[in-house]
Amino acid sequence: MLNGVGGSLLAYSDLFLVHCPRCSSCARIFTPSNAKGQNEPRYTGHESKRLVCSKCGLTKDIHPKRSWNNLWTFNHELFDEKQGVDWYFGLSLYLQAQCCGNNIWFFNLEHLDHIEEYIKKHLRPSELYYLSMESRLPAWMKRSKNRGEVLKVIDKLRQKV
Ligand SMILES: [Zn+2]
Repeated sequence: MLNGVGGSLLAYSDLFLVHCPRCSSCARIFTPSNAKGQNEPRYTGHESKRLVCSKCGLTKDIHPKRSWNNLWTFNHELFDEKQGVDWYFGLSLYLQAQCCGNNIWFFNLEHLDHIEEYIKKHLRPSELYYLSMESRLPAWMKRSKNRGEVLKVIDKLRQKV
């Protein structure tokens, strides 16, 4: 949903903040270095991923496998972020909330900061909303009447972490 602001979603996918499946605290999903072996090539989006919860100590790794066409892929399809989950474990994103009748979500704080910055910079409360080509934010987020609500929810999410 938030493609196109400061790059694609892939640019933010190095870190997912999710609800820990064991204790519901904020857990992290990231790329541990060299998990697949030092000399293996890196394929962005298809690297070993690690889930770590610093609250309860849960740690879980998943590793892609080399497939028939010699590419590294996961056994399962990546989960769909539009469902409010991370790509790799399918866990509920920590930074998500209901906003203006829609679901708003972010992979991590950097992602959230960039969207907030974008909205502050490009949306003025008194102006009609303007669908800029550079932004693929959903239309409801770009409506100036929603600006205050969106920024309020973003602020609240930031304080959760
Ligand atoms: Zn936990």
